[in-house]
Amino acid sequence: MVKRIALAQLSSCWGCDQSLVDLHLRLLDVLPQLEIVYWPAVVDYKLADLESMPKDSIHFGFVEGSCRTKEDEHLLKVMREKSKVLVAWGSCSAYGGVQGLGNQWDLEDLLERKFLLADTITDSRIPTENLPGFTEQIVPNPSIVPFEVILPGCPPTPDNTAEALTALITGKPYDLPNKTVCDQCPKERKEKNIKQFHRAHEGHIDPNLCLLDQGYLCLGFATIGLCGAQCPTVNTPCKGCFGPPPGIADHGAKIISALGAIADMTPEQLEKSFPDPLGSFYFTDYAASYLSKIRQKQRSEKKK
Ligand code: SF4
Ligand code: SF4
Ligand code: SF4
Repeated sequence: MVKRIALAQLSSCWGCDQSLVDLHLRLLDVLPQLEIVYWPAVVDYKLADLESMPKDSIHFGFVEGSCRTKEDEHLLKVMREKSKVLVAWGSCSAYGGVQGLGNQWDLEDLLERKFLLADTITDSRIPTENLPGFTEQIVPNPSIVPFEVILPGCPPTPDNTAEALTALITGKPYDLPNKTVCDQCPKERKEKNIKQFHRAHEGHIDPNLCLLDQGYLCLGFATIGLCGAQCPTVNTPCKGCFGPPPGIADHGAKIISALGAIADMTPEQLEKSFPDPLGSFYFTDYAASYLSKIRQKQRSEKKK
């Protein structure tokens, strides 16, 4: 039986869609088993098309991006209503994404920065017309509506998406692996104490040794192993874009506690090494962190 699939985009870079297209000829393995009923990134579907579909009439709903606008929230809720199986597709959808780092600031500050203060602005004014309205902060989509499948990654690799799709089509469960990027990495890790952190472009990397042991902030030890360690394999430190393995509630807290055990450095040296600590430790999942939730609570109490 051909399965009906919808792919929706909330606020995002649409890179997850790109990764699906990157399946190239392998798309032919799954496409004959799918009827695409909504995919505005590729075909000119309208929101009204989706809204007019009966409840639960879509077998698999893939949601990319997070809710930065009220329009996003509406689309997410429509996708939930129409889909039997809803998939949080990519780290934006699963955790809030890179844009979740904006939760460090109030919405007013973000609007001011974006529309009044950015160096590239020539017409300084905060637009008020024809806008869908912004959400106060980014909240991970699974905190707004329930999802049956979480598929993180920024973006998920084409193979990740193909595996999830194949499991769904064949009626098998799709579970996240309980392993880390380090488990997939070919480099030898000796868990050395670190006396100095380097930026990725500094120094000379020994391609056979663990990047973290060499003083590069490689977050493979706290990041779910789904991507095949594609960054460290080519001597680029893992930024943790797939988020934590199952069972770790706060990705950045896990990273900070692990680094605390191996960094043989003063607080001043550490502060100098990480000018953007939240961006370094919560690349795609700050919106899912305890810190962001505390900030959100403080904001709500301030408004009372
Ligand atoms: S998860 Fe990454 S690749 Fe996918 S839409 Fe978000 S920012 Fe883009
Ligand atoms: S290079 Fe990174 S991913 Fe590889 S073993 Fe070291 S910390 Fe883990
Ligand atoms: S190695 Fe790390 S940063 Fe690179 S794709 Fe995998 S999880 Fe993302």
